[in-house]
Amino acid sequence: MVPLKPTFMEGPYVQVPFPLPDRRISDMPIAFLDRDGVINRGKPGYINGPEEVILLPGSAETIAALNQRGYLVCVVTNQSPIARRLWPPERLEPIHKELQRQLTETHPEANIHAFLTCPHRLEDSCMCRKPSPAMLFLGHKILRDGMGHSTGWQPVNHPVIEPQVNWWGPKPTALHPKDLMVGDRGSDMGAGWAYGARLYRVPAALGLISINDGWMNDDDSGEMFQP
Ligand SMILES: [Mg+2]
Ligand SMILES: [Zn+2]
Repeated sequence: MVPLKPTFMEGPYVQVPFPLPDRRISDMPIAFLDRDGVINRGKPGYINGPEEVILLPGSAETIAALNQRGYLVCVVTNQSPIARRLWPPERLEPIHKELQRQLTETHPEANIHAFLTCPHRLEDSCMCRKPSPAMLFLGHKILRDGMGHSTGWQPVNHPVIEPQVNWWGPKPTALHPKDLMVGDRGSDMGAGWAYGARLYRVPAALGLISINDGWMNDDDSGEMFQP
């Protein structure tokens, strides 16, 4: 049987729209954010085009606050409509451009530094779909660990290494103590847990504005989660 493309051999799509901030990037924490139900309004049947992107109130202000406090912002999103062949990966460009446009329009400092998208379905058994932490580790490598990446809106397919996760062991230690993950689902919390991030779960109807203020405190370890 011929597998549908994208196959499990391929990894997530990566977009690094703008040159990275000219600072000591290796020291900067990363805020990993789920997209639908966190930054923009989620919708049954997927966000299928830029006209369906509606920011949740307050998400631009919270992303600006993350930027102002020295965080790199990395979106990590599962978008199986791509593997379902509802639309091609190229459509990530207008959707994410529109998301960033609305963010900037609402707050000029609400920058997203990278968008990482798993295009697969559960049954594709890929290595990147959350709750796999692979997209978070890839975000670390691209944004902070000097892997480098072409800049622009065009989605680039990027193979990943299968992460070694012991779901029954203790929560791993993050690569940076302030790294955090915000999501509205258990799969987001699972990915953040397996990476070692500080975890913040928000209700999908409210999104990022409802993140508790703990994230601003360096000693806050985030919310408890048991995978
Ligand atoms: Mg979500
Ligand atoms: Zn995947």
